[in-house]
Amino acid sequence: MTKPAAGLPLVELHTHLEGSLMPQRLIDLCERHGRPGLAARCLTPDGSAYRQGDFAAFLELYRDITSVIRTPADFHALALDLGRQFLDDGVGFAEVSVSVGVMLKREIAPGPVFAALAEAAAETAETSGVTMRWIPDAVRQWGVDEGWRAWEAAHAAGRACGVVGFGLGGDEAHGPAADFATLFAVVKAEGYGVTIHAGEVPAMGEAGRESVRQAVIDCGARRIGHGLAAAGDPGLLALLADRGVCVELCPRSNVATGGIARLEDHPLRAFLDAGVPCCLNTDDRTLFGLDLQGEYAAARESLGLAGEEAEGMINCALKARSDLETTD
Ligand SMILES: [Zn+2]
Repeated sequence: MTKPAAGLPLVELHTHLEGSLMPQRLIDLCERHGRPGLAARCLTPDGSAYRQGDFAAFLELYRDITSVIRTPADFHALALDLGRQFLDDGVGFAEVSVSVGVMLKREIAPGPVFAALAEAAAETAETSGVTMRWIPDAVRQWGVDEGWRAWEAAHAAGRACGVVGFGLGGDEAHGPAADFATLFAVVKAEGYGVTIHAGEVPAMGEAGRESVRQAVIDCGARRIGHGLAAAGDPGLLALLADRGVCVELCPRSNVATGGIARLEDHPLRAFLDAGVPCCLNTDDRTLFGLDLQGEYAAARESLGLAGEEAEGMINCALKARSDLETTD
């Protein structure tokens, strides 16, 4: 079992490597790959932060930035940057999502990338004591065959590169989790953790709740990313609590993407009251200008999170690590 570093008390289970790309690094990558106009389109005029917009603008931004993260050296630099962000943020242990689905779509060979990520994780652990593990994920709307390709690449990199789980992200309206049930049965049989983005957009209503049910019941997810749609359904909350499924809440990201209008609208309290294991996370650190300490502070101020509840959430995150599946 990997213990979090002493003195760095926070644990993060839901943060995307690509979403942690620092503005200056984007400028460097755009120059390196001959796309000078791209950085100006993505960043504020002073180059210090990303432009904020609606969900469609966010998807476009994500497409833009991933178009200049191409070589193992690019990923290595990104991972070192993220390690420094964790250190500054007091995060001692993190499981970081990496979109192997996007890598394959862009015809980037995943093997050398994961080797570079493993190197960066080792350097980070050595220099700062921060532990980073990787959760490659597939893009649901690209279908099951692409999902299998992503899993095969993740599995090939495997524990030797710090891969501890496999995930599913993308557009919940196109690509039901149930389609991936057989794939996730294999992931679990191989001893890797399963975490699935589900119920991220409350406006999806019953379809969002069904998305959470499929992730838990059909795919056996031990963690759910966001899960907001479950909040209004006592039966679904009871299912999550009974199965001990940890919900990776990302409140300020939900506001940034327009999933909820205001932080005060976040249903964190419904999860806590129903006894659902849950923890706070940033989701996309630099794209939205977020850190985990700020996430806990915002929940305290806007959602009435008590000190002992925050401690309980950090403990939930510790217990819900996919890292435990692969090393115990
Ligand atoms: Zn996410």
